Amino acid sequence: MTARIIDGKAVAAALRARLAKQVAALPFRPGLAVVLVGDNPASAIYVRGKDRAANAVGIAARTICLPMDVSEEALITQIARLNADPAVDGILVQLPLPPQIASQGVIEAVDPDKDVDGFHPLNIGRLAIGRPELVPCTPAGVMKLLAEAGISLEGARALVLGRSTIVGRPMAVLLLAANATVTMAHSRTRDLAAECRRADIIVAAAGRPELVRGDWIAPGATVIDVGVNRLADGRLVGDVAFAEAVRVAGAITPVPGGVGPMTIACLLENTVTAALRRRSGN
Ligand code: NAD
Repeated sequence: MTARIIDGKAVAAALRARLAKQVAALPFRPGLAVVLVGDNPASAIYVRGKDRAANAVGIAARTICLPMDVSEEALITQIARLNADPAVDGILVQLPLPPQIASQGVIEAVDPDKDVDGFHPLNIGRLAIGRPELVPCTPAGVMKLLAEAGISLEGARALVLGRSTIVGRPMAVLLLAANATVTMAHSRTRDLAAECRRADIIVAAAGRPELVRGDWIAPGATVIDVGVNRLADGRLVGDVAFAEAVRVAGAITPVPGGVGPMTIACLLENTVTAALRRRSGN
């Protein structure tokens, strides 16, 4: 058996096209401000990608670059300015931040109504009680991929591998809200292979290259690979050993071209949602 490949690039392109149409019909341009601190090359690439994708759907995106040695106070002052700027509907602070800055304070400085990353405790709380507003982009993207692929979640056994606040935790909450029976696995999980084998759906977000092997996967299971890992030889691989997994799974996302494009598309969707909500006064 060879798994069906879930094409994140195509699903993301369709979502971006829908957003472009929606934005074109608005009497205003939604605004997105991306704050980039320092010169981490990976962060710079991500930010350029977000900027380009946003402008392509008609969102007015701009990047504010701050030096590596910026103080936490100066960064928070910048965020306060963006919070007060009526042309800005969405604010995203690219992580990771340099060590002199406490990320949590910065995340909490963003106006929750402009928090298009969905990382503010208010938005995480809303998600946790089943009243989501701005949902973290990567898990939101995974949910859309599962829906597009026609994977039934009701009563399904879903295993989320990884418990970060950015991916694993909100992922588990979303799957639970969709009536899956959710298990969260992490670095202290005793028998990860056995946990995986029990799952109808595996969402791997551990940041460990090819951790999930083919013989950890139940025949026909759905495998969503969030991991993005650069190997010493320059190759980009996920958290799943794709060549093995594709022979066992029923459906699987590739890396690259799976979850990654969905994350950006969902960021754009959050920006449009935030703009509509704010500008209609809701
Ligand atoms: P993180 O390092 O914050 O969290 C990793 C989690 O995995 C932790 O909870 C840890 O307990 C668990 N873990 C680590 N090693 C493990 C092991 N050997 N066995 C079981 N559990 C283990 O990472 P993150 O920010 O959640 O990101 C996870 C991966 O997803 C990374 O590869 C990251 O690059 C990728 N990512 C991709 C996108 C995207 O858009 N495609 C977005 C965000 C993150």
